[in-house]
Amino acid sequence: MSSRSGTVFVSEPKVSVDSLVPIYPSQYYYDHKCAYKFILSRSDNVVALPATPRMELGTIIHLLHHWSFLNRGVGVTLPQAEQKFDELVADTERRLSASPLSAHLVPLSSSCDVFVTRRHSAVRHAVREPSAKVTGGDRVTRQLSEEGIESLDGLIKGSMDAVYYSGDSIDIIDRKSGDVTRDGALRESYVTQLKLYAGLVYDVEGIMPRSLALIDGSFHKYEVDFTPDEVMALYSAAKDWLSAIREEVSSRPGNLASLADPRPSNCKNCQLRPNCRPYWEATRQGAQGYPMDFSSTVETIEALPNNSYIIRFGGYDRSLSFRVKQAQLSAYKPTLDQLKNGDRILIMNAVMGGRQLEVDTQTVILIDRR
Ligand code: SF4
Repeated sequence: MSSRSGTVFVSEPKVSVDSLVPIYPSQYYYDHKCAYKFILSRSDNVVALPATPRMELGTIIHLLHHWSFLNRGVGVTLPQAEQKFDELVADTERRLSASPLSAHLVPLSSSCDVFVTRRHSAVRHAVREPSAKVTGGDRVTRQLSEEGIESLDGLIKGSMDAVYYSGDSIDIIDRKSGDVTRDGALRESYVTQLKLYAGLVYDVEGIMPRSLALIDGSFHKYEVDFTPDEVMALYSAAKDWLSAIREEVSSRPGNLASLADPRPSNCKNCQLRPNCRPYWEATRQGAQGYPMDFSSTVETIEALPNNSYIIRFGGYDRSLSFRVKQAQLSAYKPTLDQLKNGDRILIMNAVMGGRQLEVDTQTVILIDRR
């Protein structure tokens, strides 16, 4: 990726074998579904689509609860929780503002439809009375938060939200900002994450955890069923998977796109899909269920007097055009001002309005320089 004057270009990804290590329990479930996505995520020159405002808010709430947990000894008042929430939002908005792909998502209070309700719920749940328990101490009563842990061989590394020691027993809890179930069952990605934590703890401490649990955004607790055998089978399968990919990257570096598994369920939330040729090939073949993304060559671009643009694309019926609405123009103007006839552009997360493509909050326009 290169960025100049607010314009983002897509270029060929480059990856090294060393950058593939370690894998993270929180991401392994999705990494495992498409090895090419995992490889792209470790490349240093790829374009990543911005997270949705709801995802950003989820991260803020997670950080707020972690901060509240750390302050459980002294307690947290409502004004303190509100102040911390607002500081975390300000930090996030500073980061979003620094990227031409996400600056238009600021302020989050406008771009995120659930901002007000989730803020209210999050700060209320971050309030806590002072607790007699303290971090650290002897092993019998220890409680740890955001406990970093790494496998003895360095291949898997994670950070557990909360670990409770009681004698020789270990209980692990992971907090989520939203639902932890889907269709009445615990989400597989979260279950996989917790089982890999259990494998890490057994590897490092020699003790299989007694319990694994999830806490959802409404502060309900869900126990995760597991057996030591399935934990260790998953743990070693994850390492075998990583070894196989490292072997591919070192032996066939020019053929890594063959590891892609394009299908709507994998690609619809993939923030790296602008860089993925197999994805574009699959969408060109007209398969249903993919996001509203377009890759096309600019045939004509016309700047209108009302400060909007109409772009016509080669290969499409001439009546299919692209209009940037005035309200969002500032987010796309640097890219549109650089466009010339014959440029190949990628329009991600567009919206179809009759015979016109339109932008909305999540739309990103990129110039393909591969
Ligand atoms: S777009 Fe789809 S196929 Fe390509 S890397 Fe992402 S998940 Fe994999």
